[in-house]
Amino acid sequence: MISPTRSSSVQAKARRDCFDAHKKQDEIGNIYLVCHLCEGRINPAIEPWIAEHAVRRAVGGSDAPSNVLPAHQKCAREKDRVDISENARGKRVSDKHFGIVKKRGFNRRRDMKFNWQAGRYEGGR
Ligand SMILES: [Zn+2]
Repeated sequence: MISPTRSSSVQAKARRDCFDAHKKQDEIGNIYLVCHLCEGRINPAIEPWIAEHAVRRAVGGSDAPSNVLPAHQKCAREKDRVDISENARGKRVSDKHFGIVKKRGFNRRRDMKFNWQAGRYEGGR
């Protein structure tokens, strides 16, 4: 996932480091990368690719080249989509579990009625 707080020059450096660390060369001398998601070959000259954190920075992944791997843009987009929904689900579950999210409104007894003239709930006991 690309954090919006990182400048484009930092991203360019990360991509360059990633490229240098992971580039491979085939028997006829073509430079290529291997997508860490689908394990397919990326031709970096013609295919859009991104430098991706194998372990997300959000969960403590480092910026070291060993953790920043090339991926097809389309594969990364698919993974990001899954990551985001997993994160959101995980957050919702823990919010509920640890009582972070409170129920909205106050617990009005069912037999109370709102008195518009008085501006308050009345009745019940
Ligand atoms: Zn791929």
